[in-house]
Amino acid sequence: MAKHLNGRLLAARYEASLRASIAQHRASAGCPPPGLAVVRVGDDPASGVYVRKKAQACGRVGIESRMVHHVAVASQQEVLESIHQLNADPSCDGILVQLPVPSTLDARQLLLAVDPAKDVDGLHPLNLGRLVRGEPGLRSCTPAGVMALLAHGGIAPEGMRALVIGRSVLVGQPMGILLQQANATVTVAHSRTRDLSDHCRQAELLVVAAGQPGLVGADRVRPGAVVVDVGIHRVPPRQQGERAALCGDVCFAAVEPLASHITPVPGGVGPMTVAMLLCNTVQAWRQRCGGGAPRPAETDCLH
Ligand code: NAP
Repeated sequence: MAKHLNGRLLAARYEASLRASIAQHRASAGCPPPGLAVVRVGDDPASGVYVRKKAQACGRVGIESRMVHHVAVASQQEVLESIHQLNADPSCDGILVQLPVPSTLDARQLLLAVDPAKDVDGLHPLNLGRLVRGEPGLRSCTPAGVMALLAHGGIAPEGMRALVIGRSVLVGQPMGILLQQANATVTVAHSRTRDLSDHCRQAELLVVAAGQPGLVGADRVRPGAVVVDVGIHRVPPRQQGERAALCGDVCFAAVEPLASHITPVPGGVGPMTVAMLLCNTVQAWRQRCGGGAPRPAETDCLH
């Protein structure tokens, strides 16, 4: 039976460490608290849940969070104006543009407008370039969270045959780069990959970020593999009165007996994504108020 890589527990440890670090740094350097601003456009319900969770997590560690909420019909110029104001606001250390934005807006241009020093989602081209070059900078939260889960689960990717399913700029691409930098031999699969099952069965480390519920079942997992499930999907209740459940891209019940390690959904990668957002915000804040050079988020919090 696979060991669970428990993101909830690890995220709680990160939060405790961040809370202490913020309090200590505020006392010694006399800095105002770190500030995170979330720019949200429209009322996508899933985004609402994520934004609330992020705000609650900020509150627990001592980051002041605020939301700049635009109506769904806001213009590109209006949203850009908010971002420019936050860039210039000294009480704001981190800016997050909550994705997805309505299709009437150009998300790329919005992300490009964020000051790279405040880009706590690690999606600005400058930070993505730093990632590719292996230079310090703000890292994309979900892949950084996966790396932290692996590290704290005692899993060293070095030399491992790793497969990342998904090649989005948000998850798959940075995930592949981080694993490669950790000396894994990485294959990145996508919707046009032929013989996905063969690739899967060769993988000693499988990171699934395809956004396809149940894509990976027992027949696609090599016995003893480490399986990381990034996918997150709401399963509608089967009968009235039941709450909606969450599931991932991996058939957990079928794969758990085979894998050596597995991340549950919920409680695996999700909480770590939020934890890394907090890490990035604190990193940006420390940089601004004299905390030294930034370090990669995945090594920043617990050491
Ligand atoms: P995305 O932008 O839709 O990208 C999905 C990727 O998967 C694409 O590269 C796509 O290939 C590939 N893909 C789709 N179907 C496939 C298939 N049948 N076989 C192989 N590859 C396939 O999604 P994303 O933003 O990366 O997110 C992926 C999943 O992670 C979603 O469920 C999302 O909700 C979840 N997520 C979770 C967290 C968290 O904190 N837990 C954070 C972010 C995202 P093509 O490029 O060829 O289209």
